[in-house]
Amino acid sequence: MMLRDFTLRGVALQDFRGRDESLFDLTFRGGRLTRKKRLPELGQRNLFLTPGFNDAHIHLLHLGLSRQRCNLSGCGSLDEALETVAEFSRGGHTSGDILWAVNWDESHWADQRLPTREEIDRVVADSPVVMRRVCGHRAVLNTAAMQEAGRRWGALDPGGHLSEEQAMGLANLWPPTPEELEEAFLSAQDAAIAMGITRASEMGSHAALDTYLTLEERGLLKIDVKLFVAPERLEEVVRLRQEGRFTGPRLRLGGVKLYADGSVGARTAALRHPYEDAAHTGRLLYQDQDLFDMLDRCAREELPAAIHAIGDAAIDQVLHQLERIAQERGLEATRGVSIEHAEMVDTPMLDRIEALEIGLSMQPNFVERWGRPGGLYDRALGSQRCMAMNPFREVWDRKLPLVFGSDGMPMDPSMGLEGAVSHPMAEARLMSEEALSAYLGGRLAAAGYWDSEDWWAYGRGGGVLYGYDPLDLTSGDLSRVPVQGVLWCGEWVLEPSADLFRAGVVHAG
Ligand SMILES: [Zn+2]
Repeated sequence: MMLRDFTLRGVALQDFRGRDESLFDLTFRGGRLTRKKRLPELGQRNLFLTPGFNDAHIHLLHLGLSRQRCNLSGCGSLDEALETVAEFSRGGHTSGDILWAVNWDESHWADQRLPTREEIDRVVADSPVVMRRVCGHRAVLNTAAMQEAGRRWGALDPGGHLSEEQAMGLANLWPPTPEELEEAFLSAQDAAIAMGITRASEMGSHAALDTYLTLEERGLLKIDVKLFVAPERLEEVVRLRQEGRFTGPRLRLGGVKLYADGSVGARTAALRHPYEDAAHTGRLLYQDQDLFDMLDRCAREELPAAIHAIGDAAIDQVLHQLERIAQERGLEATRGVSIEHAEMVDTPMLDRIEALEIGLSMQPNFVERWGRPGGLYDRALGSQRCMAMNPFREVWDRKLPLVFGSDGMPMDPSMGLEGAVSHPMAEARLMSEEALSAYLGGRLAAAGYWDSEDWWAYGRGGGVLYGYDPLDLTSGDLSRVPVQGVLWCGEWVLEPSADLFRAGVVHAG
């Protein structure tokens, strides 16, 4: 909507600075907030404006592709998952194409068992099927898919089970078309906006770079995207940056996304001590020196590394290599680096993180989904290690640059807010306003990355309208509590409802 001159009447503001009981009239001219008037009386708080969620770790392309594919996230058992694959195959999936069945999570199934190659063959035999776990770090193939993958990769596990590099590399064997990727992004972007997400850090797969450059060129980005690229595209982005790409308005280059280990769900997160339910410690994906060289290369190119590290051994390895870089070249060299997930971080590691002045990008929805007593983390790691995971309070109290994201499991920020305020360990919990602030990017504001006052007045000129207090969101499900409108960079990217015009809350002119 091209409504650029208007007033929002009687709106409560909810930003990084906690509760403010006042109501405001906000005047926008030419799409910018030009006047913020505090109303003298306290009134009924019916409409709230926030700066919009910043999902600091998301895979929008992957999320959108999941919507085009056979989605197993709602399945409650292996049988149901296999039946869903069979049904998807019957319903128009043509023989010869690859059938992607994605997002299964056996930790919520009664028997908690992975599918086998033969079981998938029994429901689809004539064309390749890839069943990929929700975390992406594990996949099972049917025989037809095994044969195709084997032709490219050589011998594979005869059971059809793949993990880590192979599971994550399947998208290179059966790459989506540019059209599928564009459609995937647009549907994921709409879903993000409907949840009040206006900024996203995309942890890009191999194809993400080309897709986002095209999307930006064609003016299809409505939200701000900070793109992190796969390491094999590093040289290319350095060249593109020299050519003046990534200068906005919506697309920015975030840096390089690296993986130091896998996931707890796939039992591939790298641990100091063995898993409770498996006789191994997961696996580090880099040798020390290779990780050092890669981090050093990112530092030399001034491309901040966002390093996936979940297990304590992986976080320890990452910190050790970053410390080597900082010792050789000073803290400048690690500026902007973040550890992604950092689920098994402990106090001594937080001391080292603080000394390195690096950031933490955490996913409180993982606590909500897998971190409860009796849940996946408890079974995989034992109660003591499970309870010590994701120590949000300590991270917060140390004033570390903390950002929250969802990793798309699911994207809904209200699930993350819930996880942050109801961590199973009371002393690890955040208050609602702290959790909200971390999800809005407020801790970055506190660390001097931007001025929160700028946000409303002169910055991005936008926000998200809710018909309820976002601080009460923690019990929520954002897909059921619709956002009332999204104003971003002076444009309504989600139009305010006609009711708001009728009620005089949004007043044109
Ligand atoms: Zn991720």
